[in-house]
Amino acid sequence: MIERRYYGEFGGAYIPEILVSTFEQLVMAFQAAKANPAFRQEYEDLMSTYSCRPTPLTFAENLTKYFAGPRIYIKREDLNHTGAHKINNVMGQGLLVKRMGKGRVIAETGAGQHGVATATMAAKFGFDCTIYMGEVDVARQRPNVFWMERLGARVIPVRDGSRTLKDAINEAFRDWAANMDDTHYVLGTACGAHPFPEMVTYFQSIIGREARRQVMDREGRLPTRVYACVGGGSNALGIFSGFLDDPVELVGVEAGGKGLETGRHASRLASKDGSVGVAQGYKTYFLQNDDGQMKETHSVAAGLDYIGVSPILAALRAAEKVRFEATTDQEVLDAFSLTLKKEGLIPALESSHAFAQVFKETKDLGKDDIILINLSGRGDKDIFTVADAFSDPQWNQFIQKKAEEYGA
Ligand SMILES: *Cc1c(COP(=O)(O)O)cnc(C)c1O
Repeated sequence: MIERRYYGEFGGAYIPEILVSTFEQLVMAFQAAKANPAFRQEYEDLMSTYSCRPTPLTFAENLTKYFAGPRIYIKREDLNHTGAHKINNVMGQGLLVKRMGKGRVIAETGAGQHGVATATMAAKFGFDCTIYMGEVDVARQRPNVFWMERLGARVIPVRDGSRTLKDAINEAFRDWAANMDDTHYVLGTACGAHPFPEMVTYFQSIIGREARRQVMDREGRLPTRVYACVGGGSNALGIFSGFLDDPVELVGVEAGGKGLETGRHASRLASKDGSVGVAQGYKTYFLQNDDGQMKETHSVAAGLDYIGVSPILAALRAAEKVRFEATTDQEVLDAFSLTLKKEGLIPALESSHAFAQVFKETKDLGKDDIILINLSGRGDKDIFTVADAFSDPQWNQFIQKKAEEYGA
């Protein structure tokens, strides 16, 4: 009997019959690994020697002065190998794949960041690797496709439907069902059927454990609030899990896109547009029409541009443990610029959502308060989007042309 873990009314495992035994095997491998202290040690050793863990905690002295309010600290997930928290999850799954004795991994990717992280993991562990990517995204994300291929992965452009992320997910599931004996599907966030939400959160919780210890070492007390951006929810759950039993306010920040009132956003929990449904193997809030058709979402940050959200976050909201907000593309670009100029940090546009929300709320807090922001990734990858947004078409064309030359 397959385990179908729920979080309140959310989660579960709504999977085709053919994949049941594969999910059972994964659940068992994960439970056994989790119960074994040597596994956690192996994982932490790997992350400290391969991906710069523990990542530092940076005091944002200039931003703190600028707002003349709470003390602002930044958890530096941007310093991970491949530039974001995603590596925490894929390396953990890589260790499980090894334990299950499989030799092939597949993944789907939209913006390409999860694809690059998975291809990196596959190279390191010696796995065969196939990445599914919508044809539209392949064209939009040439530099990432270039690196995935150089890392030895096969990138398959998906030509069905809207030729974006959701079509790539369907294709990856088809591959998995056909090749499950030797193949593991590396899901990139804390979504999907059980055990993925729990498993991805387990690996990402390394962020919160470190961050809690680091704030305590530095300040001798807990932060007042912790902020993280929310796409699927993995970096948010990673940092929040360090503080779930503490009297700390947790704030998840979704993509407000052009504004919640326009309908052009990717806010499932902070807007009124999300509704509970079942899709892609799990039950959560989705941006869907009355007949269950998924809506078009929009965000300046590709990594937040997703129709669903982690069932664990949906449950934490229902339990009033996490507050959800949304920031618009424009607020995000302003926060991005301010963070560069004041701290010399280049946050990913995804992470800049958390910064934008903090900047809106500093006036509510006093100088004794401490704020912790999860800087989920670095913004180098956003060069085209940022050049576009700041109306620098010449520079953008130059970079695009160069990228195409290298990619060709
Ligand atoms: C992918 C990505 C996200 C969104 O994913 P979550 O699972 O919500 O964390 C956020 N930040 C960065 C830098 C990313 O690459």
